[in-house]
Amino acid sequence: MPAASRPRKTVIVTGGAGFLGSHLCDRLLGDGHHVLCVDNFYSGTKDNVLHLLDDHRFELLRHDVTVPLFVEGEEIYNLACPASPVHYQFDPVQTVKTNVHGAINVLGLARRIKARVLQASTSEVYGDPEVHPQVETYWGHVNPIGPRACYDEGKRCAETLFFDYHRQHNVRIKVARIFNTYGPRMQVNDGRVVSNFIVQALRNEPITLYGDGTQTRSFCFVTDLVEAFIRLMDTPDDLTGPVNLGNPVEHTVRELADKIVALTGSRSAIVHKPLPMNDPVRRRPDISQAKAVLGWEPKVGVDDGLKQTIAYFDELLKKGPAALEHR
Ligand code: NAD
Ligand code: UDP
Repeated sequence: MPAASRPRKTVIVTGGAGFLGSHLCDRLLGDGHHVLCVDNFYSGTKDNVLHLLDDHRFELLRHDVTVPLFVEGEEIYNLACPASPVHYQFDPVQTVKTNVHGAINVLGLARRIKARVLQASTSEVYGDPEVHPQVETYWGHVNPIGPRACYDEGKRCAETLFFDYHRQHNVRIKVARIFNTYGPRMQVNDGRVVSNFIVQALRNEPITLYGDGTQTRSFCFVTDLVEAFIRLMDTPDDLTGPVNLGNPVEHTVRELADKIVALTGSRSAIVHKPLPMNDPVRRRPDISQAKAVLGWEPKVGVDDGLKQTIAYFDELLKKGPAALEHR
């Protein structure tokens, strides 16, 4: 349905001051909705939504989703959770709480106010996958006691809770399994590969390649992902997902490093660092379901998306240290 003919709603976005959440807030406001952005600024920043604060349809609430919340709205996007391994492993107990208590609180809210609720799940539910490309029917290969488990198992338990609230309490759910997504407003110190490599390349500092760089990922540009979110939320109630959302074009991390060095014209050298424990070897989404049920596939190629992301970081870094204080 074209945006103009869609009814106006109040939409709650938890994690709305983060990378994905802030782009989602932009899009929802652009579509004419009211947005309540809920965030505790653990890995996001007010700077990401500063440009929205004067919009009377936008409201920003500092709140931790591990605590119940009592607000009103017709739709909820549950994005609250640090997504970078560096951030989610910094305080793993909090990561589990955010995923599990956060899901319970958000689902309780959805139940009370009869809202539709979309969960930002992740390709990490597949762990270090033995099935390639990853299909939604694959149950995954996760180390339950490793350093990534706070996130992987937290997200898996959140999916369990979403489906149990759906079956037991008829909550209308949508579960999106998001694969690596990148773009402007990732933090300079985010720790994820795209932002790390771009910032290192722009500063002509060594590019930190973990392991031999043969591990693969598939990189989706943020605007494509947000489009998929909106389409998934708009599907009929019987479509719960999980639905894989991501770009099916697979690259080695080494290829990504070479590409970023070439696109930035950087003098950076590549240095090898140890591969983090349980780092998935291969990752690529099978997006047949998203194509069939959402009529969606990514439009932005990796070169184009990287150029837009490089332009963002280039401008930010040129502003100097003061501009980076909160990023
Ligand atoms: P991000 O870290 O930029 O954003 C997460 C936001 O959640 C931040 O603003 C943070 O402050 C907020 N938050 C964290 N804990 C919270 C809490 N307890 N209460 C309230 N707010 C809290 O990460 P992102 O890339 O924007 O990811 C958004 C969501 O999408 C996350 O749930 C993540 O797991 C999921 N996801 C992202 C990707 C990706 O590649 N970007 C891939 C898979 C899944
Ligand atoms: N990576 C890297 N150098 C970095 C950051 C990440 O080589 O500075 C690698 C990391 O080991 C992984 C891939 O890039 O194989 C993607 O890492 P990221 O943290 O972005 O996300 P993940 O998909 O592992 O959650």
